[in-house]
Amino acid sequence: MPKRLNLVILGKQGAGKGTQCERLSARYSIPHVSTGDILRSAIQVDSTLGRSVASILDAGALVPDDVVIKLVEDRLEELDARGGALLDGFPRTIAQAEALEDLLGDDGIKLCINLEVPTELATQRLSTRRVCQECGSIYKETDVEAISGTCSKCGGDVIQRADDYPDAIRQRLEAYVSSTEPLLAFYEARGLLVTVNGDQKPDDVTVAIQSEISLRGLG
Ligand code: AMP
Repeated sequence: MPKRLNLVILGKQGAGKGTQCERLSARYSIPHVSTGDILRSAIQVDSTLGRSVASILDAGALVPDDVVIKLVEDRLEELDARGGALLDGFPRTIAQAEALEDLLGDDGIKLCINLEVPTELATQRLSTRRVCQECGSIYKETDVEAISGTCSKCGGDVIQRADDYPDAIRQRLEAYVSSTEPLLAFYEARGLLVTVNGDQKPDDVTVAIQSEISLRGLG
């Protein structure tokens, strides 16, 4: 049985988790599992799940634990996650973290990376973020793609996500503090927590994360 590399990436919305996960996924050949992306795809294709969670996402509130736990359970059973996965946006509550431990058993989480950024920076990144509805590429509001509304990679529409409007940003960051920050102590108590400064160039963040991973002999 190959060694499984299951990593949890924690951090406020806007900390840069998505960007770092894409890079780490390529580097360690493990899939980037983002519950936010899975939920948004369900909304996009208008599935039963999508219809039941759309208003929750728009408001920036949390989807019930049982719904996301089942999604992650199903996703981690897929073939490409046999060697591990990078979990982005999950767990977000203690109940989800406990369910994840039950799910992975002895072959559990190897490391929890806390990508730390000040709230003001997270708010500023989220409010100026634009995203391609087709391929998910991220742009800044001043990029030509955001101004023209057309993605240069796939031609899709570039929009501001409903949950990147000010009220929803506030709600999401509050939910992070009340529901997700307690996870730092949860993983700290298990000796799995490492904090990386997310307020630096993306390349420098990647180097910092990779050195924490190799320091522990994980990759
Ligand atoms: P994200 O892209 O990770 O910021 O997620 C977008 C939205 O999806 C969140 O604001 C929540 O409404 C929902 N969501 C994603 N992951 C979870 C989770 N683990 N638990 C509850 N809701 C989630």
